[in-house]
Amino acid sequence: MSDCIFCKIANGEIPAELVYQDKDIIAFNDIKPQAPVHILFIPRQHIETLDDVKNLGIYSSIFKAIGEVVKTKNLDKDGYRVVANCKGDGGQEVYHVHFHLLGGRPMKWPPG
Ligand code: 5GP
Ligand code: ZN
Repeated sequence: MSDCIFCKIANGEIPAELVYQDKDIIAFNDIKPQAPVHILFIPRQHIETLDDVKNLGIYSSIFKAIGEVVKTKNLDKDGYRVVANCKGDGGQEVYHVHFHLLGGRPMKWPPG
């Protein structure tokens, strides 16, 4: 979608610090990191929210990617958090499906 910031990152129109890519998924550092490691995983395809995901295979692709990055960032020993925000009450700001991978510090629960 032409005015979607994550589509622009996926097609290289705006820069991002890429940490992973394959044919379906890219991952890049969050511009406003909330933890020492804060990486966003997105499908290359524009899908607005979790409720619009039709092909559940993208979850498999995203979690495969997360698993690989967890290892390269050495998060497997101390742990990490994976978060997906959906629509207003979920705190979604960018309407292109994404999963946050957060790590490198202890996380509080519940979130605000
Ligand atoms: P949401 O609230 O939609 O789950 O999270 C959106 C995330 O995207 C936020 O953590 C925000 O910092 C990040 N973000 C927004 N715009 C950009 C951008 O242009 N580049 C990068 N790398 N991250 C962004
Ligand atoms: Zn998009």
